[in-house]
Amino acid sequence: MATSTELRDIDAPVSFDNTQVAFQYKSGRDLFLAWLIFSLTKNPAVMKLLTRTVKLLMVLKMPIKPLIKATVFKLFCGGETKAEYERVIARLRRAHIGTILDYAVEGSADEAGYANTEAELLKIIAEAKRNPDIPCTCLKVTAVAAFTLMERVSTGNALTREQERHWADAQARLDRICKAAHASDKPIYIDAEESWIQPAVDTLAETMMRRYNTQRAIVFTTLQMYRWDRLDYLRRLIADARVGGYRLAVKIVRGAYMEQERQRAKEMGYPSPINPTLEATHRDYNAAIDMIMDNIEVVEICLGTHNEYSCKRMASLMAARNLPNDHPHVTFSQLYGMSDNISFNLSRAGYNVSKYLPYGPVEATLPYLTRRAEENTAIAGQMSKELEIIIRERDRRKRVGQCLLCESTGDQADSTS
Ligand SMILES: Cc1cc2nc3c(=O)[nH]c(=O)nc-3n(C[C@H](O)[C@H](O)[C@H](O)COP(=O)(O)OP(=O)(O)OC[C@H]3O[C@@H](n4cnc5c(N)ncnc54)[C@H](O)[C@@H]3O)c2cc1C
Repeated sequence: MATSTELRDIDAPVSFDNTQVAFQYKSGRDLFLAWLIFSLTKNPAVMKLLTRTVKLLMVLKMPIKPLIKATVFKLFCGGETKAEYERVIARLRRAHIGTILDYAVEGSADEAGYANTEAELLKIIAEAKRNPDIPCTCLKVTAVAAFTLMERVSTGNALTREQERHWADAQARLDRICKAAHASDKPIYIDAEESWIQPAVDTLAETMMRRYNTQRAIVFTTLQMYRWDRLDYLRRLIADARVGGYRLAVKIVRGAYMEQERQRAKEMGYPSPINPTLEATHRDYNAAIDMIMDNIEVVEICLGTHNEYSCKRMASLMAARNLPNDHPHVTFSQLYGMSDNISFNLSRAGYNVSKYLPYGPVEATLPYLTRRAEENTAIAGQMSKELEIIIRERDRRKRVGQCLLCESTGDQADSTS
């Protein structure tokens, strides 16, 4: 969340206050469900109890899948099958929001699991080629290569012959995926992960950008601005892209692994890679936006954030430079089920917007859903913010006499709130 001082300072050309626009695709029942889930998970103790109970019931093989599918899964995921997620893509399309399909299955950590994920990714890339509503795809390197290998490569120490072979396999696998994205002319976002494997991920991403971004941005790397070293890294990347004559493409996020990072640094006795305060993270995130805007002719950016201030700051910088709202180098992206007031109002104002949409079998998406809920609870104010906009929309619907528990959506409604 931006501080109130930050919010007061900005004179943005876009507002995120219109809840009717934000929830145009949610029926009365959907809105009630969102209210229920965000209310329950607002309290960290209740959240912990709920996730533990669900895990236990799953281990005991209790038949709770229909309940999960009709609740949290429905709120945060696209579906189990193509037919199901296509309905969500169509809904987002009506609001001119693109979908980034995120295969949420955390497969087995072996060659068979990696091959399976590669095959699924190639399928999504082929689908993106055909479907204009899928502007790009995304990938976690550790879904197609061993975490331990990435960790070993990241230390910079010599590899054994077997590790060398696995590293060559990982590079070849990533190359096949990026080559397919290039052939489809649809970008692919490489997600950022834990700092102790990130040097290997960065090496792979940089190699792929040099290889496939010569004409336009196809491969995006991700920078986590909760790390105090990332602004310098961004500066180096921009310089390298200028010298190398390729397009730098970056997704800028704050970062999702703060607790683990701090914990590991403490246990192993090295300085934490994370900024000392939230304010320092905000400062670096916004400085990264500024730096990219100063180099926008060679950089493409995706702002992966639920922070209203950062989105408004980007919109203001674009306006100050007379860039059109749909400038092809700038995209805003939020997770499905989160910060709809940002996504839908940005898209209505003509900005490029996409949503990360996880999909896969309910059981397989549980780790994702649990992390999602835990992370949201950990981000001070995020749950309250989501709840606040839901309650405002519920009150608005009550005022205009709209049915609060019906299946019809606000799709047809006009834009006045
Ligand atoms: C489209 C999209 C793609 C994403 N891809 C990735 C990815 O590839 N890799 C990844 O790691 N995450 C990714 N994320 C998650 C992201 O990093 C954040 O965890 C989440 O979006 C909240 O960030 P925000 O910008 O909305 O932050 P805000 O809600 O404004 O701030 C919360 C964030 O600030 C940081 N923070 C909180 N407290 C402190 C503190 N005391 N000191 C320092 N920093 C603090 C943390 O990063 C925390 O998540 C993605 C998010 C989106 C929306």
